[in-house]
Amino acid sequence: MSVKRNPNYSIRCSVESCANHCGGEAYCSLESVSIGTHEADPTVQECTDCQSFVRK
Ligand code: SF4
Repeated sequence: MSVKRNPNYSIRCSVESCANHCGGEAYCSLESVSIGTHEADPTVQECTDCQSFVRK
């Protein structure tokens, strides 16, 4: 059973397999997140990553 955390309504997120997800609602529970890329020259959405992701 997953732990419910307080949602940060400024950070929408649907990645429920992340330990930082609030659970129940589609929001992150962190105060802020870091976004980055794994590409040398990012061109589309899929090139970007949430670097605050932590596997549940
Ligand atoms: S850390 Fe990133 S991936 Fe994880 S819940 Fe927050 S926004 Fe989503």
